[in-house]
Amino acid sequence: MDLGLRDRTVLVTGASSGVGLATAQMLLAEGANVAACARDLDRLTAVLTDASTERLHLVSCDVTNQSAVEAFVESAVDRFGGADGVVCNAGRSLMAPIESTTDAQIREEFDLKIFGVLNLVRAAQTHLATSQVGSVVTVNAILARQPEPRLPVTSAARAALLNLTRTLATSLGSEGIRINSVLLGLVDTGQWSRRYAEADTSLTYAEWASELASDRGVVLGRLGTAAEVAFPIVSLLSPLSGYTTGACIDVGGGVGRYV
Ligand code: NDP
Repeated sequence: MDLGLRDRTVLVTGASSGVGLATAQMLLAEGANVAACARDLDRLTAVLTDASTERLHLVSCDVTNQSAVEAFVESAVDRFGGADGVVCNAGRSLMAPIESTTDAQIREEFDLKIFGVLNLVRAAQTHLATSQVGSVVTVNAILARQPEPRLPVTSAARAALLNLTRTLATSLGSEGIRINSVLLGLVDTGQWSRRYAEADTSLTYAEWASELASDRGVVLGRLGTAAEVAFPIVSLLSPLSGYTTGACIDVGGGVGRYV
């Protein structure tokens, strides 16, 4: 099936690992041009070296830094002649009880979740409007709707982002730009392998991940894979999803309990 992304240009943040990397690889496989960023350019370059370089543009950029994001977008447009899609994926979560979280950490979390998206959307908006098929996907979490007591600040920041995404659907929609969210459950990426490394457990990673999925009530009984998230992201970017905006897709193996 042709998703209509060949020769389209898509910007992906946080593309050196996990969901962002899988998304960049899937877009390249679909024939899209990909402008990818992360803070650590060496790691980004190392993981994407095998990919087809003439359709790949790699930049070091912290998504919380407005001028760096503007430079990322402009360099992508200079390189490929426009921008048709944006995947706001860069991020991490803060697993800490509210009592032991500092004000600075709370501000940092909201900065990353809100400005990490807003900086990119604002910088890309005129290019997306020109594209005629402009589309944004925000990578959010089921926590936005189902707060997790172990991640109170991340849950609140995720809820704020979901709310903002819905508002942006209205304002961007008047320019023909769509914006949608994927809400992730537990996805097997660098986030969880880092937590396993810190867990001081005698379990293997597979055993630990399986216990984690069971403990969190994942209906499918396992963590998701990055490719299983990349597919709905790429589908939402496709012009074939042209009548979908302001929507959310749960990618959580059934961990979301709301209706
Ligand atoms: P990974 O840790 O595997 O990858 C995170 C990526 O984001 C890396 O490329 C990292 O590179 C980049 N990044 C982090 N901070 C910044 C920043 N300030 N500016 C630019 N790039 C940055 O994470 P995942 O693939 O698991 O997560 C992807 C998204 O999905 C995140 O927003 C995460 O919060 C969300 N999510 C993930 C879940 C999961 O279970 N995995 C669950 C719910 C949501 P570098 O460090 O070099 O900048």
